Amino acid sequence: MSQSLLYHAFGVREGYEYRSTKYVEGRVEFHLAVKDEDIECPHCQGREYWRRGKRQRRINTLPIGPKAVVLVVEVPKCECRACGRSFEHSPPLPPPTATTAAPWLDSSAS
Ligand SMILES: [Zn+2]
Repeated sequence: MSQSLLYHAFGVREGYEYRSTKYVEGRVEFHLAVKDEDIECPHCQGREYWRRGKRQRRINTLPIGPKAVVLVVEVPKCECRACGRSFEHSPPLPPPTATTAAPWLDSSAS
């Protein structure tokens, strides 16, 4: 399983990196993590922060054949060193797009 497939079939793009694929009870789970270098305080745009744990988002997306597909996204909880406020970093994931129609390919040819 490649990151390229995630990009092109499921619209997973900037801000996330692919970690692993797990096969669980007939489901396929793609595990993703936010790229550290993209984390920024939404209150003051500070780039220095402490990690304060994380949580998981589970997003159902398009099935592959008969198998359900779930994106499992690790969302870091952070505390800004500059302003002291807490925030989560969770870049938006686009809605799943049918593999037969991929209009977003036009703008992400790389
Ligand atoms: Zn801040």
